Amino acid sequence: MRIILMGPPGAGKGTEAESLVKHYHIPHISTGNIFRELYKDKTTVGKIAKEFIDRGELVPDDITNEIVRHRLSHADAKKGFLFDGYPRNVNQAKAFDEMLISFGWKLDAVINFSVPDEVIVKRISGRRVCEVCGAVYHTENKPPKVENICDVDGGMLIQRVDDMEKTVQRRLRIYNQQTAPVIGYYEEKGSIIHVDGTKSIQEVDQTIKKVLGEMN
Ligand SMILES: [Zn+2]
Repeated sequence: MRIILMGPPGAGKGTEAESLVKHYHIPHISTGNIFRELYKDKTTVGKIAKEFIDRGELVPDDITNEIVRHRLSHADAKKGFLFDGYPRNVNQAKAFDEMLISFGWKLDAVINFSVPDEVIVKRISGRRVCEVCGAVYHTENKPPKVENICDVDGGMLIQRVDDMEKTVQRRLRIYNQQTAPVIGYYEEKGSIIHVDGTKSIQEVDQTIKKVLGEMN
């Protein structure tokens, strides 16, 4: 199974991604996570990427495409994959098509989550992350037992720069300008599934698995 999850930041893609990769035994490929790892490892690419991400901007296409091409060459990608956060603009989508052709692969589904901007801002700006283990909390929807402290390891909870309200507004603007056209690109190819991202996690998950199940 080869899947792309599309939709604005905070649309619930991450949660659904976890469910689908378990269900289909495929790797979850998040360019955001790869860039964060590269930054932790103190690589030059990681440092460059972080500057763009912290400003709420897209990492340049050549860097992003190269990271993806490299990731696809790992053995586990032969089983299939789920992309989350890529492609982010039409140029990346075209580059991705070429990569797939070069590997001799075809996409099975592009799943698009739609969620109104106001809902997104609320969801993301309440997000807090454990400095130690990376566990994700939410000030309203999933608060820790003790304010600002991780339930698992007592680590400090922080707000990532790219989750701050101002940055979220900027990410949404860029999403609407650059990433939303990718949906049109895949719609023309007839391979897109639309999902209402304001529905509960269970409902979204059931809808997607039903549609994917019918396709195979
Ligand atoms: Zn923790």
